[in-house]
Formats: sequence, structure tokens, C-alpha cells
Amino acid sequence: HVKEHGKGHYTFFDQAMGSRIDHHLNMETGLRRALEQHEFRVAYQPQVDVVSGRVTGMEALIRWQHPETGEVSPREFIPVAEQTGLILPIGEWLLRSACEELLRWPDGNEGLRLAVNLSPLQVHQRDFVDRVRAICDETGFPLRRLDLEITENLLMRDVESVVEKLRTLSRLGVTITIDDFGTGYSSLGYLQRLPIHALKIDQSFVHAIRENEEKGTLVETIIAMAHGLGLNVVAEGVETKRQLDYLRRLQCGRMQGFYFSYPLSGHEAVDLLEGWAREHLASRH
Ligand code: C2E
Ligand code: MG
Ligand code: MG
Ligand code: MG
Repeated sequence: HVKEHGKGHYTFFDQAMGSRIDHHLNMETGLRRALEQHEFRVAYQPQVDVVSGRVTGMEALIRWQHPETGEVSPREFIPVAEQTGLILPIGEWLLRSACEELLRWPDGNEGLRLAVNLSPLQVHQRDFVDRVRAICDETGFPLRRLDLEITENLLMRDVESVVEKLRTLSRLGVTITIDDFGTGYSSLGYLQRLPIHALKIDQSFVHAIRENEEKGTLVETIIAMAHGLGLNVVAEGVETKRQLDYLRRLQCGRMQGFYFSYPLSGHEAVDLLEGWAREHLASRH
């Protein structure tokens, strides 16, 4: 059935838009149910100190196992969660769950840090700092083990109040990392004013490191700049020995990526920390 629109492509446009709205609504309904029905899980990806070779932290990454369609990528559902405000309860669920889970891991992991991704909406909440403190208080997870990953887009409004919140958290021992660095709205002025501790180089720059193209990469520039600002550098998306060696030469301190480990379930993460998977990892190329 074709509506009388005079021109066919209007009808086509309406349909495409309609199905996008349907998709969005289905996703929103799905996300609400996922919270109630406990369909979310936390995956952990190790962060490695390249000098000592030790796992210094774990990044918590949310996973959604949809009962009908299977796993849905956070790249797909996080934007909908942000548009609907559902990221607030989802983000709190993730932080609380990860804090609780890490505290259950075996002795010897007390120094292990937890990195958590935050959406701008969470940080813009008036009582954001209190919410983070409350979760750490209630779970017993020390604030000094927490690393909050924010993105440059957070700085597009209310900069003064964001800076103040991050300062407060920083005084409490929380570290702040700029995630996906180099892909968003950047201002060197902000970088100097912000109470941040590290820049996490976006994986697109890391993937651009290829054979015979190692001179003058953006990675090199970002690392030099971070060091100039007195910040630590984390490289994400490290997949090859070549990328590892190159980044090591540039004195990039911390790395994360499939070369070291895929994101793991809690049990797998504990196994890895216990050394169960060490041989397997060492032989991977
Ligand atoms: P991100 O925070 O930059 O996380 C890194 C993403 O790259 C993860 O995808 C991870 O699985 C993937 N990755 C890690 N190492 C490699 C590698 O060596 N090669 C490649 N190709 N990919 C690698 P994931 O888990 O699908 O998450 C995607 C994005 O969704 C995250 O990017 C983050 O922005 C967002 N996200 C995930 N969990 C949360 C969350 O709990 N809260 C919020 N607000 N955002 C989240
Ligand atoms: Mg991240
Ligand atoms: Mg990233
Ligand atoms: Mg990100």
C-alpha cells in the first residue's frame, strides 16, 4: 500500500523514519526490562603496566544479553540509554556491581584499580559526587581504587561545575581519565585546568600504527603532549606486538587491548589474575 504523496521518495522516507522510531522505542522498552530482569553483566578488561608487566587495573564494560536477539553492543544501546535518561540507573547499577564484585576477588588484589566509563549525563547530575561516594561507602570499595573515564564531550557545558566535581573526587583519591582522547571536543586550555590524571589514546590512533609508518604518528604527538602536561598515558585497542613495541618505545606507561586480553567475565578475570591463563596469553600473537 502506497500513500498518495505526489512523490514516492517521501513515502520511503516516512517508512525509514518510522522504523527508526520503532527501533528506538523497542530498545527503550528492552532497556527498562533489562534493568528489572537482570539482563546486564559486567565484563572486565585488564590494563597492563608495560614496565612491570603486571595487571594494574580492570576496565568495567557493560554487557547486555537480550533474551531474544542475544548480545547487544553497548555502542548500540548506550546512546539510547543516554537519550532516555536510563543511563542514570544503568550507570549506578554498573558501578555498584563492579565495586561489589572486585571486593569478592581473592586476597592479593587489593591494589587492583577499577576503571568505570561515565556518561556526561551522570556527571551533570547535581548530586553526582555524593552518589559515587554513597556507592563506595555502601559497598566498602575504597575511592582511591576508582578510576573514572570521562569523554571530552562532557566539557561542552557547565564546565565550572564539572571541574569542581572532579576536583572534589580527586581530593578523595579518585583518578580521572579522558577516554577516547583525540576524537572529541578538545581544548588544551581545559586539559591544564582539569583535575585529570591520564589520557587514554583512542584506539583508532593505535590501529593506525602500521609497518614502516611509525614516524610522526598522532600517537607520538599525543604521548609527548600528555607527558608535557604531566599526565599518564594509556593506550587502548593494542592488538599486535608491533603496536606494543612502538608504544613502549614512546614510553606509554599503560596499555589495554586484545593483544593482552579480551574483556572477560568476572570468573575469567580472577583466573587471569591468578595466573591460570598466563601461558595462554604469553603465546598469543
Ligand atoms: P571504551 O570505553 O572506549 O571501551 C573500549 C572498547 O573497545 C570496548 O568495547 C572494548 O571491548 C573494545 N576493545 C578493547 N580492546 C580492543 C582491541 O584491542 N581492539 C578492538 N578492536 N577493540 C577493543 P565495548 O565493550 O563494546 O564498549 C564500547 C563503548 O561503549 C565503550 O568504549 C564505552 O564508551 C561504552 N561503554 C561500555 N560500557 C559502558 C558503561 O558501563 N557505561 C558507559 N557510559 N559507557 C559504556
Ligand atoms: Mg573506556
Ligand atoms: Mg575508547
Ligand atoms: Mg568510550
